[in-house]
Amino acid sequence: MTTLVETAPRTASAFRIERDGNLAIVWFDLPGEKVNKFSSTVMVEFASVVDELERDGDIKRIIIASGKPSIFIAGADVTEFSKATSAEQAAEYTRFGQQTIHRFSKLPQVTVAAINGAALGGGCELAISCDYRVMSDSPKAHIGLPETKLGIFPAWGGVTKLPRLIGLPGALDIILQGKTLDGKRAKRIGLVDEVVPAPILLDIAREFSTKPKRRGSDRTKFYVEGNPLARRVIFGKARKSVLDLTHGHYPAPLKAIEVMEYGMSAGVERGLGREVEEVVPLITGAAGDVAQNLIRLFFMMEESKKERIAAAPAEVRDAGVLGAGIMGGGIAQLIADKTDAAVRMRDINWKAIAGGLKAAARIWKKKVDRRRMTRGEMQRKLARITTAIDWSGFERVDLVVEAVVENIDVKRQVLREFEAAAGPNAVFATNTSTIPITDIAAQAARPQNVVGMHFFNPVDRMPLVEVIRGAKTSDAAMVTVANFARKLGKTVVYCNDGPGFVVNRILGPYMNESGFVLEEGNAVESIDKAMVDFGMPMGPMALLDEVGIDVAAKVAKILSAAFGERMEPSHVVATLYEDGRFGKKNGKGLYLYEAGKRQGPDPSVYKLLNIKSTHPADAQAVVERMIFAMVNEAAMILDEKIVASAAELDLAMIMGTGFPPFRGGLLRYADTLGLPYIQARLDDLAQKHGKRFLATGALRKLAEKDGKFYR
Ligand code: NAD
Repeated sequence: MTTLVETAPRTASAFRIERDGNLAIVWFDLPGEKVNKFSSTVMVEFASVVDELERDGDIKRIIIASGKPSIFIAGADVTEFSKATSAEQAAEYTRFGQQTIHRFSKLPQVTVAAINGAALGGGCELAISCDYRVMSDSPKAHIGLPETKLGIFPAWGGVTKLPRLIGLPGALDIILQGKTLDGKRAKRIGLVDEVVPAPILLDIAREFSTKPKRRGSDRTKFYVEGNPLARRVIFGKARKSVLDLTHGHYPAPLKAIEVMEYGMSAGVERGLGREVEEVVPLITGAAGDVAQNLIRLFFMMEESKKERIAAAPAEVRDAGVLGAGIMGGGIAQLIADKTDAAVRMRDINWKAIAGGLKAAARIWKKKVDRRRMTRGEMQRKLARITTAIDWSGFERVDLVVEAVVENIDVKRQVLREFEAAAGPNAVFATNTSTIPITDIAAQAARPQNVVGMHFFNPVDRMPLVEVIRGAKTSDAAMVTVANFARKLGKTVVYCNDGPGFVVNRILGPYMNESGFVLEEGNAVESIDKAMVDFGMPMGPMALLDEVGIDVAAKVAKILSAAFGERMEPSHVVATLYEDGRFGKKNGKGLYLYEAGKRQGPDPSVYKLLNIKSTHPADAQAVVERMIFAMVNEAAMILDEKIVASAAELDLAMIMGTGFPPFRGGLLRYADTLGLPYIQARLDDLAQKHGKRFLATGALRKLAEKDGKFYR
């Protein structure tokens, strides 16, 4: 049998050993790549480096260092291990890497990791196999084990060894959440020994290499680690919090707990054996397709970072924000936080501006409270946002994000005024949630500069930005906005124009359906529970309150005007809105609020909606109605080429709505059920609940053709 390791293509040498007396510096610098990562080939090479170090009696001290500017080791090569579909291949790949690193950890020499940049996954596992770890204080330097985010767990020794190095609670925290830490935090928990400025990293690593070798990794220094009873309590708690968070949808963290628990009592060697045994079914899909879905998502995100429009983005030195409301305040904060651009925020009165600044300050304040930022830094960033109620200062703006009220006449007026105030190349990026960009730009003097830049609420936390091309938008304007959004740390999905673009248009039928379901007497909390159990981050009722019922009312109106019967809303949103219930923002919605925190459902809602009696929802029926309504709309969106591919639509839904990543996205999930089945169910639902469910032509076409969205 040819094995993965044997068939791995050979590359030029990734390692170079620099000798200096009895010190060997092992430089890792993968040729032709931006990052260092462990493919099988590289691991085979590293194994021969370890052989050499084992044999060479003259070497007494070893430093592992990286030749890349801001990466130590990014981890295992995800492309490669995700291809290992047979259990033998996956086991071999895992075991070989694990044992090579384990052999390294047993070298007689003193070993030091000089961590200059990201040390993730396998990179972190190699680092923790050294006697000492010295880390750069550069903001690019991070250390951690993100494997559970890919649906697997660290099986090159991470699960077995990390708790022995930093204690159980710290190790569980990092592994279960897939966390990475900067130098300061890594040092605080004992994950690294020293954090130093980048230019002296290697000198300090040399100093550490003259220290005595550390003996034994089993550090029962804490009471907890040595006490089986205490351990059981900790693992029990960890299990419970994972289940509370994931509703059992993610097997990897639970497996990590199981393996860690075993390793803590059975010892390192047997722990390592168990790591391989338990990770293999996760990799190959024998334990479900969660890892495959999460890995695909990882690649989708990588793909979205690449620019595919052949035009050069303009640099944004001066940015503007129009409207200092919920979105404008958040956008101004984000720009000042993530870029060096000056931000000029305009509204029509000072009261609104004060509100926007307050909202921005509140976001930074949270960081200060969590000690992620100093008060001084916060003040400096806040001071970069200047404000105006006229157009002064907008003559030098390179890009403005428009976030005024969702009203086409107001937006057109603002655009007109902006064009008069700004230079000829300034880009006007509108954050409209539903209005077609072409309509906003219809009377523009320079429609080529008008682009959609649709953020999601809350701006600092939601990772998606839809970048939308109007009929006359230029390539240059598109890439300028996309490039800027990526600088803000957002995932970009390009969309073509149309009411609601991608995410809000798909959410339309979902939100509407939740209203119909409620009107039938299904209890508010049971509707939400059904969707949360399915994997959504919150149910539709809570989401309505969160987004704002006033906002939802506007969106519903625009979508139903654009799409007619399919998007006809229930009476719920309009009735609540007329009752002055705007949701969380005014403390009145479907739920009750105390000091801004959501409590139980508000029983007076039923009376208001004329619902005589309520009952718990049939979860499966609710999920089916709400998800299939979205699938139906999504098929049309793809057919109309509003978005280029099923994968991009899925990425948008995951990043924009929190659609459960473990399901791989809305369309990937639909494919697992098969489109002929969904079409048949939609036709049934149309009979029972109304024509809005009728399977769209686009869905029928696909169901007949190959039954899937992905090919
Ligand atoms: P908001 O009502 O909180 O804020 C709008 C602000 O615009 C107000 O402060 C208002 O005074 C100001 N304004 C009105 N006319 C103006 C003018 N001529 N010049 C400058 N400012 C003016 O609204 P919001 O929720 O922040 O929404 C703003 C935009 O973002 C809308 O297009 C909305 O559809 C979109 N959006 C909202 C959300 C959301 O969840 N709230 C999400 C994505 C996109």
